[in-house]
Amino acid sequence: VQGPVTVTVTGAAGQIGYALLFRIASGHLLGPDVPVKLRLLEITPALKAAEGTAMELADCAFPLLQSVDISDDPRVAFDGANVALLVGARPRTKGMERGDLLEANGGIFKPQGEAINAVAADDVKVLVVGNPANTNALIAQAHAPDVPAERFTAMTRLDHNRAISQLASKLEVPVTAIKKLTIWGNHSATQYPDLFHTEVNGKIAAEQVDEAWLKDTFIPTVAKRGAAIIEARGASSAASAANAAIDHVFTWVNGTAEGDWTSAAIPSDGSYGVPEGLISSFPVTAKDGKFSIVQGLEIDAFSRERIDASVAELGEERDAVRGLGLI
Ligand code: NDP
Repeated sequence: VQGPVTVTVTGAAGQIGYALLFRIASGHLLGPDVPVKLRLLEITPALKAAEGTAMELADCAFPLLQSVDISDDPRVAFDGANVALLVGARPRTKGMERGDLLEANGGIFKPQGEAINAVAADDVKVLVVGNPANTNALIAQAHAPDVPAERFTAMTRLDHNRAISQLASKLEVPVTAIKKLTIWGNHSATQYPDLFHTEVNGKIAAEQVDEAWLKDTFIPTVAKRGAAIIEARGASSAASAANAAIDHVFTWVNGTAEGDWTSAAIPSDGSYGVPEGLISSFPVTAKDGKFSIVQGLEIDAFSRERIDASVAELGEERDAVRGLGLI
C-alpha cells in the first residue's frame, strides 16, 4: 500500500473546487488505493467558505482522506505538495484589458511559483486550470527554478474531452472508439482540435467527416463550448472542468494506454515548430509519471496554419508578461 499523497488545491472554495475536492477525496485523482491529504489555498475572504467545504468533506467520511488543511498562505498550503492543482485565478471582467488580466494573474501565480519552489515535495506535479492557464503556468514555472520545468502543465483535457464527445456524437460511435485526438496550442478560442491523426475504430477521423463540418462546425463548437455552457446553465462549466483536471493528473501519474495519446499543455522542447519553453498543448503520452510529446506526425497546411496561429498567441502572451516583468 502506497503512503498518502499530498494534494494542494487553490481556489478551493470556488465552483470548480467544489466539484473537484470530493472526487480527489474519493480516490479518483490517483487511484482507489491511494490515501490523500488535502491542502486548500484560498484568499482570506474565502477562507470561511473553504471551511464549509472542509466540513462537508469530513461528513463524507471518505476512507482515503487523511486530512484537510486550509490556509491563505501559499507557503503553508504548498508545504509537501506532491500534486498542485492551481484553480484559483483572476477572471477577466468587463472592460478589462489583456495586460491588466495578465498582471492580476501575475500577482497570483508568481508567489505560488515561489512557494512551490520553496516548500513543495521534490516530485511535485503542477496543473494550472485557472485562466489564462498556459501563461499562468509559465509565470509560476519561471519562479520555481529548482523544480524541473516539465512539472508545470496547463489543462487542455477539457477541450480534448469536448472534442471526443462532439466527434462521437457526429459519427454515432461510443467515445471509446476514438483514439489519438489532439488539441494543439493555447487553451483559448485559437486552440486547434486536430482530427487528421485521430482514429475512429482504427480509421482516420478527418476522412469520415466532410470538410465543411470539420471547419465550420466542429472546430468552433469545441472552441466555444465554454460560452455555450454559460449561455445554457447561467454559469461557467465547473463539473466538466473538474473532471478534466482529474483525467489530466490520473493520466500523468498512471500513464496513457498503448496505442493512444491525450492532450496536455506542457513546456515545448521545440517540437512541431513551437518555440522552446512555451507551455503549449501537444499530443502527449504519459509513462512513469512523465509526459512526452508524440513525435513524427505529419502536419498538413490546414493544420499548420491553425497551430501556428494559436502558438503565435502564446508567444504574444509570453512577451506581454515578460514586458510586465512577471517572468
Ligand atoms: P471557477 O472555480 O469556476 O473557475 C476557476 C478558474 O478556472 C477560472 O480562472 C476559470 O477561468 C478557470 N477555468 C478553466 N477552464 C475552465 C472551464 N472549462 N470552465 C470554467 N472555468 C474554467 O471560479 P470561481 O470564481 O467559482 O472560484 C474561484 C475561486 O478561486 C474563488 O473561491 C476565489 O476566492 C479563488 N481564488 C483563489 C486564489 C488563491 O488561492 N490565491 C487566487 C484567486 C482566486 P475563466 O474565468 O476564464 O472561466
